[in-house]
Amino acid sequence: MNVVKTIAEARRERAKLQRLALVPTMGALHAGHLSLIEHAKRHAPSVAVTIFVNPTQFGAREDFSKYPRPIEEDLAKCEAAGIDLVFAPAAEEMYRPDVPDIVVDLPSLSGVLEGKHRPGHFKGVCQVVAKLFNIMTPNAACFGEKDFQQLRILRAMVEALDWPIEIVAVPTLREPDGLAMSSRNQYLSADERTRALSINRGLMQAKEDVANGIRQTNRLLTTMQKTILDVGKLGKIPVSVDYVAAVDPVTLKPVDMVTGPTVLAVAARVGGTRLIDNVRVEPPR
Ligand code: AMP
Repeated sequence: MNVVKTIAEARRERAKLQRLALVPTMGALHAGHLSLIEHAKRHAPSVAVTIFVNPTQFGAREDFSKYPRPIEEDLAKCEAAGIDLVFAPAAEEMYRPDVPDIVVDLPSLSGVLEGKHRPGHFKGVCQVVAKLFNIMTPNAACFGEKDFQQLRILRAMVEALDWPIEIVAVPTLREPDGLAMSSRNQYLSADERTRALSINRGLMQAKEDVANGIRQTNRLLTTMQKTILDVGKLGKIPVSVDYVAAVDPVTLKPVDMVTGPTVLAVAARVGGTRLIDNVRVEPPR
């Protein structure tokens, strides 16, 4: 496995490979990331992982400085997973002070849900992913459905800029009890970990309601929020909900009735940790 830190080295090593699938990450790799790697292998004979905690996608009061960076463990996981190339640049390599800032924005998709609660987040995501695509020139790139808005925006970016890159969506990997895997789960205390389950419980309740014939999203979202708050308040500090939403998976516009594929999304805070999750629902046939 080749591990490189500079853009020049990344380009040189990439040039030695043929068809390449890319898995962009911020490191602190867990089984969800490894699932992305497994999907990547199905799309190309060579797989590259990028490990970069991208400063431009964090807000001023977010967890950039405390975000976990266990680089040696991450590299061991990549090695064990059979990765060909790891690109792990420093922030100064990616963002040089002499180079002007560039913004890639898809306002119709980036101003809602996460974008509304984390202003500038998706500009940072598009900026870094665009740079990684130009450096690594992958043929395919894998992204998780856990971050479904990010996935939608990056797919739209590739379409809008005519990038010949196949965007591969990978289902959310969950802990056995249903909690979506996330690098941020390691912030949770034992009590918070229990209460974090309320997020999945809320989504599962809404999914069950759809299966039982409820179509009005305001009813689904009310029950979802109530379930999250009820289950979440069993600990010392209750879970708080940033938003619950029912949206069209393509336009990300709010949906009033579940008449076709719909994404139910939630962002919630458990103690100091902000977690997101979503499920896709459809009316039963
Ligand atoms: P991150 O390192 O959190 O920026 O995530 C890197 C990639 O892994 C993104 O495409 C995420 O959507 C994806 N990812 C994170 N958690 C999961 C999960 N539980 N299941 C599947 N993919 C995930």
